[in-house]
Amino acid sequence: MFQSILFATDFSESSDHAFQYALSMARKFESRLGIIHVISEPVDLRGFYVPHISFDKLEEEIEQGALKMMEKFCRTHVQDYAKVESFVVPGIPFDEIIKKAAEINADLIVVGTHGRTGLDHVLFGSTAEKVVRKSTVPVMTIRIKE
Ligand code: AMP
Repeated sequence: MFQSILFATDFSESSDHAFQYALSMARKFESRLGIIHVISEPVDLRGFYVPHISFDKLEEEIEQGALKMMEKFCRTHVQDYAKVESFVVPGIPFDEIIKKAAEINADLIVVGTHGRTGLDHVLFGSTAEKVVRKSTVPVMTIRIKE
């Protein structure tokens, strides 16, 4: 029985595939479903290469773009499931995923085994691996067929 499920997306094909599992689990248990995307923090070069003003504008544009992608993701993937809440936050992906899971009392985290980079760390992508290692709640990892 899962009351609150957190699904993490980097908007890759692999995480889209994992989402099908998160959504069917949520439907089965009538759980709340949180969807999180973390904007990986850019190296802080404020005032080094670019003046503050343009760096702030860049961050704002990145956030707007990420929010639009999340809105499109929910429009196309979620449709009729009402108990959904989405989050777009800046930071280090595995860290923010774990923090958000605690914040929404998630009792299950769902991630893809791979992300946008497609990098294969033997079995897992790095975010998936770190979430599995650090999470105190169960983590379901989904591998997309090659
Ligand atoms: P990776 O470790 O980058 O290969 O990604 C593995 C999985 O971690 C993806 O399929 C997503 O479920 C999740 N993930 C990776 N990056 C992010 C991110 N920036 N925000 C939220 N979830 C992510």
